[in-house]
Amino acid sequence: MDCIFCKIANKELGTELVYESGSVVAFHDINPQAPVHILIIPKRHLADLGEISPEDESLLYEIGVAVKELAAKYQLKDGYRLVTNCGPAAGQTVQHLHFHLLGGRELGWPPG
Ligand code: AMP
Ligand code: ZN
Repeated sequence: MDCIFCKIANKELGTELVYESGSVVAFHDINPQAPVHILIIPKRHLADLGEISPEDESLLYEIGVAVKELAAKYQLKDGYRLVTNCGPAAGQTVQHLHFHLLGGRELGWPPG
């Protein structure tokens, strides 16, 4: 399967990883929508949250830890947003589960 985020997780593209744990990596979004815009992904290929299964029980905890540590690392003390787009109506363009961590500016609500 030709998946760009699998290649990033496998360190095939030389993308700088700003965080790594057993099952998770994170890197800067190539088209940032905020001063801090990091993508947090499982190393294992899942198209979106709809493919999550019992073997991923610890994965969401690991993603939570990644968020916490990245929010501290990038000094997002005033707040941040965590977003995952699932499916075409939400505008998902990469079919490998990813969470956008956005911060460093005021974030409007509701999102578009
Ligand atoms: P989504 O629209 O939720 O599927 O988000 C996909 C995100 O991946 C977009 O914000 C893109 O800018 C980002 N993206 C695509 N390719 C790369 C890449 N090679 N490195 C970093 N970010 C990427
Ligand atoms: Zn993948």
